[in-house]
Amino acid sequence: MIRVTIFNEFLHEKYDGEAKRLYPEGIHAHIQSFLKSEQDLTVYTVTLDDPECGLTEEVLENTDVLLWWGHMGHHLVPDEVVERVWRRVLDGMGFIPLHSGHHSKVFRRLMGTTCNLHWRENDRERIWTVSPGHPIAAGIPAYFELEHEEMYGEPFAIPEPDEVIFLGWFAGGEAFRAGVTFRRENGRIFYFQPGHEDYPSFHNDHVQRIIKNAIRWAYNPVRYRIPCPWAPSPEQGH
Ligand code: ZN
Repeated sequence: MIRVTIFNEFLHEKYDGEAKRLYPEGIHAHIQSFLKSEQDLTVYTVTLDDPECGLTEEVLENTDVLLWWGHMGHHLVPDEVVERVWRRVLDGMGFIPLHSGHHSKVFRRLMGTTCNLHWRENDRERIWTVSPGHPIAAGIPAYFELEHEEMYGEPFAIPEPDEVIFLGWFAGGEAFRAGVTFRRENGRIFYFQPGHEDYPSFHNDHVQRIIKNAIRWAYNPVRYRIPCPWAPSPEQGH
């Protein structure tokens, strides 16, 4: 079994009309609901309302892949929680920041850059599969469209990704690296751009399939922390 934890700040869906209508129980509960049918996944959800954002040592100890949705509450995630999650990713926990998770403290720390981009609400997006042989793209057509998404435009201030799996094109004219992978020590990271709170992207079959594929790709059963000890010369030791 792959143990998945979904962190969602859970703010917009409590107060905003459209977000509340699309995700009445919260984006975390909606993602959990479409992952339920997957026999190899167990899914747990946490929000900002939980002590320590629900991301205690014990929860992370029992998490193989962490999904992250945040936007207006990035600053409300305490630095010690960020440190803990960052450490676990390096040890081998998979990490999947969604949409505005590009500006989460954890993702920025893992990237070492601002992760800035430019944005505009309500555009039509065509998502191109540019690495069709990649496991995250399994079952995804050459392209698909989201009638309403938030435009995220290049330049996207991330380090050079290991792989670009999806490219987004927007009817307004912009392009964006919409699905990218990174490795940090033992941790596998997949950033995926669709998922604005006021649009039904998480109801889209292709988006759901990509998230399922990404969880399996990011899963690494090994946890290893590379230490930093003084060491004798192997040429002199017996
Ligand atoms: Zn957004």
